[in-house]
Amino acid sequence: MKIESNYPFSPKQYERELAALIEELLAAEQLDRKKYESIIRRHPKDGRGLFSKSEVIRGFRQLNADLGWGLDESAFLERLRMKPIRTQSGVAPVTVLTKPYPCPGRCIFCPSDVRMPKSYLSSEPGAQRAAQHLFDPYSQTFSRLRTYYNIGHQVDKVELIILGGTWSYYPEAYQLWFVKRCLDALNDFSQTTADEIRQPHESAFDFRRIEDQVDGRHLDRSYNQIVEGYAESVVEKAESASWDEVEKAQSRNENAVARCVGLVVETRPDHLSADELVRMRRLGTTKVQIGYQSLSDRVLRLNHRGHDVAATRRAMFLLRGAGFKIHAHWMPNLYGSSPELDLEDFERVFSDPDFRPDELKIYPCSLIESAELMAYYESGRWQPYSQAELHGVVQGCMRRTPEYCRLTRVIRDIPGTDIVAGSRVTNFRQVAEDRLKRDGIELRDIRSREIRSVQVDPSELSLEVVEYETSVGSETFLQFVTAKRLIAGFLRLSLPSEPVAIPEIQDSAMIREVHVYGLLASIGQKERLRSQHLGLGRRLVEEARRRAESQGYADLAVISSIGTRNYYRSLGFADGELYQHLALGDRDPSP
Ligand code: SF4
Repeated sequence: MKIESNYPFSPKQYERELAALIEELLAAEQLDRKKYESIIRRHPKDGRGLFSKSEVIRGFRQLNADLGWGLDESAFLERLRMKPIRTQSGVAPVTVLTKPYPCPGRCIFCPSDVRMPKSYLSSEPGAQRAAQHLFDPYSQTFSRLRTYYNIGHQVDKVELIILGGTWSYYPEAYQLWFVKRCLDALNDFSQTTADEIRQPHESAFDFRRIEDQVDGRHLDRSYNQIVEGYAESVVEKAESASWDEVEKAQSRNENAVARCVGLVVETRPDHLSADELVRMRRLGTTKVQIGYQSLSDRVLRLNHRGHDVAATRRAMFLLRGAGFKIHAHWMPNLYGSSPELDLEDFERVFSDPDFRPDELKIYPCSLIESAELMAYYESGRWQPYSQAELHGVVQGCMRRTPEYCRLTRVIRDIPGTDIVAGSRVTNFRQVAEDRLKRDGIELRDIRSREIRSVQVDPSELSLEVVEYETSVGSETFLQFVTAKRLIAGFLRLSLPSEPVAIPEIQDSAMIREVHVYGLLASIGQKERLRSQHLGLGRRLVEEARRRAESQGYADLAVISSIGTRNYYRSLGFADGELYQHLALGDRDPSP
């Protein structure tokens, strides 16, 4: 691995300007955005350009000791973090893409950009970053951490989101290598290595060189046919790892500076099995993104989805039974649907106990040139909804999303230049929210109620319980809310009454998720009144324990991440093979 340290900025070179600038920042009484910008303008770099925030932070790090400001770095960052973004849900998300690889799906709406893993587009900013790193997991992860760090965000709790095609279809050796290398990057990252540039592994193939393209109107050669040649040639020895190596990287990560507190993969419903659940768990996976797309067999068939609704029911049963958090994708405006049918379909997402996902992305179908849907559009068989129809459907979905679900997206962020037909409105969600608000409708989903960086008075919080049935048993959603129903923390407890696929948790109640909001708090770092420091997590786990015990369970399992294993050990949980467990007494385990 070639390591370069060529980040082209040296704080020493600007010592005088930076020192004056930082001293003024430190002296400012109320440092809001306006004030910050006026100070920055008063101290230009080279007398011309302005210092970026990351340069100011790097300047502080280097000059603090020399000039004796005697200020703790975290206090300085806190001062600069005038409007926390990205990490306000408590965890730094690091999204990485797998390389282009054949997908078992033939979905007619799916983009086929052969320089990308299936369904992604070279023009999407996140995808571009991945391509620049030649889809190397190590350099993608390390550079994302460095970016966060340089703009002053904490990176000690990281959610690793692995996107691209169908995860379960990639060879096992590649899966192991990919996760191991992401963990290696987390393990290598520290204050002293933060400025280093890490290169992709030497034999990584540059998919940007591929000139072939797929034309959705005339599918002479499909995505899979084109990519197969390249993909096979690069699944090499360099891209494989053993379970032993993965487990060593996991152990190191338990105490690393940047810990993996969540690991997400995305897959198709028909590619899940008991073996796949175990493999995902062994890798440290905590959440699975799963494509429903539609809950109508007719629509799935018309769109060549390749599986039916029964497969989605089965996948949900397997995932929930294994304790995974479930992030579903659902698409309105598919070929063969209509606004009315879409709203009926969406109704099933939450009225049918077999579905009821924890998180949901709504991706209205947009037409992309490389998708087979082009031929349907040109022959008049499919057309996008009007803006009014689309708003009607999406707002209807937003209103129907219950308290226990987080509506993560309501439109896919595809660059307008790539959309042949479909909505190009970039602030679609904002417009939809404003309209609902105007009509006096309060959204209930988690994202609409997150407390974010608001300070919380613990005495203002009350514990509320939402119970609902699922195909596995019953589910309890415990939430700490303010008087205005803002959510400060929640826990998902599954109380299974059906036999599940994994023997280790056959008789266990299961904590599937614990999430406490607040400005991302550094592990071990004290901050005033932030919700992460009110012991909300501990109180939620205690309530889950009490409820599981009262229902007669002998064991409370938790689908812990690599980076939270120590936390659960401190609460008395013991390591099992795939989960951590708390014994609940000698009662009859049957609920
Ligand atoms: S399974 Fe997903 S990635 Fe594969 S073709 Fe269908 S939508 Fe695209």
